[in-house]
Amino acid sequence: MRHKHSGLPTLVGIPFDGQSSYLRGAAEAPSKIREALGCDASNKWTELGVDLGSSGSYADAGDLVFSDKDAFEVIEAGVGKLIDEGKRPVSLGGDHSITYPLVKALAKRCRELTIFHFDAHPDLYDEFEGNRLSHACPFARIMESGLAKRLVQVGIRTINRHQREQAEKFGVEVVEMRLLPAYAKVKASGPVYITFDMDVLDPAFAPGISHREPGGMTVREAIAHLHAIQGNIVGADIVEYNPVRDIDGLTATMAAKMVKEILGKMIVG
Ligand code: MN
Ligand code: MN
Repeated sequence: MRHKHSGLPTLVGIPFDGQSSYLRGAAEAPSKIREALGCDASNKWTELGVDLGSSGSYADAGDLVFSDKDAFEVIEAGVGKLIDEGKRPVSLGGDHSITYPLVKALAKRCRELTIFHFDAHPDLYDEFEGNRLSHACPFARIMESGLAKRLVQVGIRTINRHQREQAEKFGVEVVEMRLLPAYAKVKASGPVYITFDMDVLDPAFAPGISHREPGGMTVREAIAHLHAIQGNIVGADIVEYNPVRDIDGLTATMAAKMVKEILGKMIVG
């Protein structure tokens, strides 16, 4: 039986790093992640038993093209179109600022969204260095606009006083890294959006990121939490992979592995 949100998972590249506060480079990520995903070093089966090599398991819509238009408008419109075509977008970032227009596109079409947010950082700043659209701010924008019913943040290890106040103000469920595992926290009854910032992983596993924060998740911990998710996954994004900082493509392989397990989870439920 086809559920309303059982559309084809569809990759879409978002080569945008214009709201990164510290380093550029994440715009080069989508092609590198695709390359790693297609690499013959591994087969196409996910750990949950889904064969991503079988035709029709997922699609790839290519990269969004920005030209000189407003980037957030391009993202919201581009992903909105995919959703209207009945697809479930899996966006390859890009810096984390893109999650605001991505969630905007979804929230217009899908009420009562629960967001499972994997990150070292809460990204809840009201503004960062005078910029309200910075990659340090997307979840402040999302919550103050009422775009999500629940925001559950997992792996957080950099929260400061301002962001703790913001979390309280918006009713964000913050699961700090030191309190993991937290499988019970990644369960929801309605539509679920997954946003995966690569820096939730320990930089020992994923050095190719702009903001290296030690003490993060092992790859196994991340996969275990992704597999534990319950709810109707309507979309996902993988952000903040920065190829400029990578070592021998290691982080591209990590990002591709996360994409693979998210796709498998979306298909198998
Ligand atoms: Mn982030
Ligand atoms: Mn982060």
